[in-house]
Amino acid sequence: MTKQVKRIYLSSPHMSGKEQQFVDDAFQSNWIAPLGPHVDAFEKEIANYVKCAGAVAMCSGTAAIHLSLKLLGVGKGDTVFCSTLTFVASANPILYQDADPVFIDSEPLSWNMSPAALKKALIHAKSMGNLPKAVIVVNLYGQNADMDSLLAICNEYNVPVIEDAAESLGANYRHKASGTLGKFGIYSFNGNKMITTSGGGILVSDDLDALEKARFWATQARDPARHYEHSEMGYNYRLSNILAAIGRAQLQVLDERVTARRAVFERYDSELGHLDGIQFIPEASYGRCTRWLTALTIDPTKVGVSASQVIDELALYNIEARPVWKPMHLQPLFKQYPYFIHGDSSISDVLFKNGICLPSGSNLTQEDQSFVIDCFKRAIGSDK
Ligand SMILES: *Cc1c(COP(=O)(O)O)cnc(C)c1O
Repeated sequence: MTKQVKRIYLSSPHMSGKEQQFVDDAFQSNWIAPLGPHVDAFEKEIANYVKCAGAVAMCSGTAAIHLSLKLLGVGKGDTVFCSTLTFVASANPILYQDADPVFIDSEPLSWNMSPAALKKALIHAKSMGNLPKAVIVVNLYGQNADMDSLLAICNEYNVPVIEDAAESLGANYRHKASGTLGKFGIYSFNGNKMITTSGGGILVSDDLDALEKARFWATQARDPARHYEHSEMGYNYRLSNILAAIGRAQLQVLDERVTARRAVFERYDSELGHLDGIQFIPEASYGRCTRWLTALTIDPTKVGVSASQVIDELALYNIEARPVWKPMHLQPLFKQYPYFIHGDSSISDVLFKNGICLPSGSNLTQEDQSFVIDCFKRAIGSDK
């Protein structure tokens, strides 16, 4: 096999071709502003798509998480629970609010927040008289967490849930859209997500008063007055009209993007899933995943090589594969914060150690998929 020159990316932007028309419209009307008609329309269209009362478009998913924490009154010295197996953007906003994170392990079925670990953490928090102000539940790799179980536990302790659905726009949980099961949900439109505005995010909720407040904070907290009057600290967190224009065109093809990513997953699974020691991330029966990234684990005792060796080998063929997110409780940034595990040992540690994400873009060609599969087999020595 000769080294391929073209790089195969993990998840690259996939334009539909209609984005340019929307952007041209924004230019022609000279709405080159961090607000405008495309922002308003994009918010309505997202809210309609996920069947929520409203939405506030922001410059990033991280900003949306930040303001949802602020809406829940999270402040200095408060505690916020968060899935450990995630991208750092889920947890950083806890620090922005001077609050203290507590990390919760994954369960093996969905890789998402373990109801058992959550329960343990809440029992402990209650005994210390320090219940969290919020729980951030992440829907990893496009799969919803087991929200019925998680919400039942949180409701018992009266703790609101923020759903970090950055990777799961287009997925569902028992016929509800992923991201709409908690008090607040957030989606990301970063370049590598299900759909993109190049950069952006959105906050969704059925609580329109709360959304209005978020919109106020995100627009520099300008009090209603002709002059610039401010009684609260604000942020410059709104999404530009140009980027919202891109998002509107992208949203039109979201369902196709989900289908395409699911097909990529199926192809990998059908060609590699039967190999001894290879285990693809399961799809829980309660919902449909977006398969944002195809993730799998490699048992080094059965396969003979580690996930990290496979990633190195794929890199030789210019294929971008990545480890599974490094859990937050293992990050130097968060090492002093508590962590609660699923059972007798940490599940997320093993998923990180053995996990690998394969190129999963909705624009990945059949040919590229075949190449990745061949190189993967070669990397684990099953091509002979
Ligand atoms: C991408 C991502 C975010 C952050 O979104 P940005 O729009 O990049 O700020 C948050 N959480 C998870 C799980 C993500 O994958």
